[in-house]
Amino acid sequence: MTIDKMNKMTVRIPFVDLKLQHQPIQNQLQQAILNVLDKGDFVLGQALFDFEVAFSTACGTNYGVGVASGTDAIALGLQACNVGAGDEVILPANTFVATLIGVLRAGAKPIFVDCDYQTALIDLDAAARAVTPKTKAILPVHLYGQMVSPRQLLDFAETYKVLIFEDAAQAHLAEREGYRAGSVGIAAAFSFYPSKNLGAFGDGGMLVTRDVDIAQKALRLRNYGAHQKYYHVEFGTNSRLDTLQAAVLHQKLPYLSDWNRERWNAAQEYDTELARVASNGIIPMQNHSAEGHIYHLYVIKVDDSCATNRQQLQEELTAVGIQNGIHYPIPCHLQPAFTNLGYQAGDFPRAEKLAQQILSLPMYPGLNNSQVREVVAAIATSLRCEQKKLLYI
Ligand SMILES: *Cc1c(COP(=O)(O)O)cnc(C)c1O
Repeated sequence: MTIDKMNKMTVRIPFVDLKLQHQPIQNQLQQAILNVLDKGDFVLGQALFDFEVAFSTACGTNYGVGVASGTDAIALGLQACNVGAGDEVILPANTFVATLIGVLRAGAKPIFVDCDYQTALIDLDAAARAVTPKTKAILPVHLYGQMVSPRQLLDFAETYKVLIFEDAAQAHLAEREGYRAGSVGIAAAFSFYPSKNLGAFGDGGMLVTRDVDIAQKALRLRNYGAHQKYYHVEFGTNSRLDTLQAAVLHQKLPYLSDWNRERWNAAQEYDTELARVASNGIIPMQNHSAEGHIYHLYVIKVDDSCATNRQQLQEELTAVGIQNGIHYPIPCHLQPAFTNLGYQAGDFPRAEKLAQQILSLPMYPGLNNSQVREVVAAIATSLRCEQKKLLYI
C-alpha cells in the first residue's frame, strides 16, 4: 500500500486541522464574506487595501502588495526589486520548489547553496563562497517557521553589497534577534496557502517592503503593468489577491499570534517527550530563536543510528492513524524539471542527507499535549522502546 493510500485510512491525529481554526470564528468569517458580496468589489476592493495595510504593519514594514500566490510574490517581488536577467540569486537547495520557480520566473540565475544540518536553514558561510560579481541578491528561506539570523544576514548583505529578499512563506510573525520576518530585507514574500500559519480559503500571497518604489512597481506588475487603468508602462501580469480572500485573512489576522503560540506550546511538548527517545536516533530540528519560532512544521531527523528507518517509521505512524509528511523529499537541485541548471547528486551533502532523514509530525493550533504524547508513544513503539526500557525512560 502506498503512503498516500494509507493516509486516507482512519485518521486519529491529522497532519493539520483547519476546521479547528475556523469553526470558533465561523460567524465572523461568514459576515466578512457577505460584506464583500454586498459591495461587489471582488477585484482590487476595499477589503484588499485594508488587509495590505494591516498585514504589512504586523510584519513591521511599510507596504503590502497582495498577489495571487506566494510564488507570484517571489517572482513579481524580485522583478520589482530590479532583480532579473544577468543577475545571480543565492538560495538554499532545500526549499520548497516555489522559491526556485520565483527566481527563474524573474529571469535571474539561481545559485544553490547547502544548509545547516541542525536547523536546515541556509548556510551563510556556503553562501559567502558562492558570491560572484554577478550576485544581486540572497534569498533566505525562513524554513519551518524559524528565521535565518537577521544579524548575520544584514552583515552578509553589507559585506557583499547584495540585496536580501526573504522567503517568509512559512514565517508569518516569526521573530529573531528583535526582527520580524519580512522586515529584514529590502522586500519579502508571504504565502496564504490554506495550510500556512495564516491561510486563506484558496491561494494567495503578499509582497511586503519598506521601499515605496518597489511597492509601486509591484502594484503595477500585478495589474498588467498599468500605472492607471488602460495605461501600461511595463510588462506586467494579472496577479491580485482576491478581495474575498483578503477579507477572510483580515478576520483571521488578530488570532495569528495566539495560534502561533499554540504551535509553540505543542513544539515544547514534542521536544520534552522526544528527549526520551533521542538516544535512539530521533533528533528534532534545533530552534535557535527561542519563542520567535512559529513552527509552521515540526520536523525530526531519523538518523543513521536509529533502530528503524524513516520509511518504516512513516508507515507505522500512518498505520495507527497519525498523519505525517516529508518537507521535502527531493532537494531542488535534484528535481528532474531542473537538471538543465547543471547540478548533480553530491553537490549539497547536508541538504541531500536531510532529504533522506527528515519527517514532519502533526502540527497545528489546537494540537494538545495528550495528542503529542500519543505521537511520541507511537514513535517509541516503532523503535521497539518497550523492549529497551533503558532507552525509553
Ligand atoms: C508555500 C511556499 C511558497 C509558495 O507559496 P504558494 O502560495 O504556494 O505559491 C514559497 N516558498 C515556501 C518556502 C513555501 O513554503
